[in-house]
Amino acid sequence: MAETRHTKVLIIGSGPAGYTAAVYAARAMVQPILVQGLQPGGQLTITTEVENWPGEKHIQGPDLMVNMQAHAEAMGAEVISDYITSLDLKARPFVAKADSGTTYTADAVILATGAQAKWLGLPSEEKFKGFGVSACATCDGFFYRGKEIAVIGGGNTAVEEALFLTNFASKVTLIHRRDTLRAEKIMQERLFKHPKIEMLWNSEVIEVLGDEAPLGVTGVKTRNVETGEETIVPCQGFFVAIGHAPASELVKDQLPLHSGGYVQVEAGSTRTAIPGVFAAGDLTDHIYRQAVTSAGMGCMAALDAERWLAEQE
Ligand SMILES: Cc1cc2nc3c(=O)[nH]c(=O)nc-3n(C[C@H](O)[C@H](O)[C@H](O)COP(=O)(O)OP(=O)(O)OC[C@H]3O[C@@H](n4cnc5c(N)ncnc54)[C@H](O)[C@@H]3O)c2cc1C
Repeated sequence: MAETRHTKVLIIGSGPAGYTAAVYAARAMVQPILVQGLQPGGQLTITTEVENWPGEKHIQGPDLMVNMQAHAEAMGAEVISDYITSLDLKARPFVAKADSGTTYTADAVILATGAQAKWLGLPSEEKFKGFGVSACATCDGFFYRGKEIAVIGGGNTAVEEALFLTNFASKVTLIHRRDTLRAEKIMQERLFKHPKIEMLWNSEVIEVLGDEAPLGVTGVKTRNVETGEETIVPCQGFFVAIGHAPASELVKDQLPLHSGGYVQVEAGSTRTAIPGVFAAGDLTDHIYRQAVTSAGMGCMAALDAERWLAEQE
């Protein structure tokens, strides 16, 4: 039956930002409710090894997120499996409607709905995600020391990722479906000068190739968009760098956004343009996009929310 629940702090999203906010808010005794969304645990649940979470030399992404949920619950946060379908920030208490029929009213809201990497949508790409296919060079470049890597994309991110990956790889092939890049000219110059980088122009990836046991990438099959000619680019790592989409749908008409949909926050805080509404993690961040930076922002959001609530009393 449809019910209405009130909470002092509603946290939307269950990635590192959401769970960290929940730990801090629960320890501040504000009894937060966290709504998990369609991807409980967030983006790290679709990867394998995580080697840059401080305190854990190696941990599987899904295990790390199970630990974070257990931590948040142990501190007293209520974690609910549900999806927020609409959020009204016009008046306080704020009103969030969920897919289950429940309505949540909240004195403060922490938005931690994250972002999603854009993928090519190939079945073979899906098969090798976390086993040679990645969307994050900072996260996974280290696994390809001395190996060959292919990157697909043509914007600043693709060029940055390709250049960054030369720190590890013996060779990086940047595949782009046009004959010019969209990236800034200065970045392009660095790219073209780099001895480890080879360009494959006018080409799209049509299949990721790999071994079954152990599961791993051995190359990508490309097709020239002008001639139709198919080529195999040997590589052990394939990085998809065609952009990210922040999950700002709930607030896109209510809060100022920047850089293609990221929620804008005041510099050095998690305060949005609406008092009582805070935002953390990849939803606000088009630069760092890491679990630990998201968790840091989740902590900031909980502290900002708690202080703001105290000021209202
Ligand atoms: C393949 C891959 C590998 C990665 N590897 C690493 C790594 O090794 N190290 C590292 O530091 N970072 C890594 N990252 C980046 C890292 O995962 C992100 O930076 C981090 O997860 C962002 O955390 P977040 O809490 O902001 O959001 P996310 O993890 O994106 O979580 C967003 C949450 O919001 C929820 N949500 C969305 N909409 C709604 C809604 N309407 N209602 C309720 N909930 C909603 C989702 O269900 C999800 O739980 C990787 C990313 C990818 C894609």
